[in-house]
Amino acid sequence: MQEKRDEIIVCRNCGKEFTFTVGEQNFYEEKGLKPPVRCKECKAKRKEQQTEQSNNIVQVKSAEEKKNDFEEMLERFRANTILFEEEIERRNKKRK
Ligand SMILES: [Zn+2]
Repeated sequence: MQEKRDEIIVCRNCGKEFTFTVGEQNFYEEKGLKPPVRCKECKAKRKEQQTEQSNNIVQVKSAEEKKNDFEEMLERFRANTILFEEEIERRNKKRK
């Protein structure tokens, strides 16, 4: 079996060299993962961006709620329209 050594990997994102240690190599191998292509900084940034993306999903949800609010408003508006039409009908009957 080939002895493992710390590897130097060039970050795909920022071009910085970083060390892929033997311990990390073992960890990645255990998990069945491919060697990293980004340094820890860029990985952290990527994670941040992904968190932002999931925050956007929350915002989409609140937009959905706004839509529900709008539909509720529309429903109330329809109810008012019916009342208005009934009122007109009542007035027309009085004239007769
Ligand atoms: Zn990087």
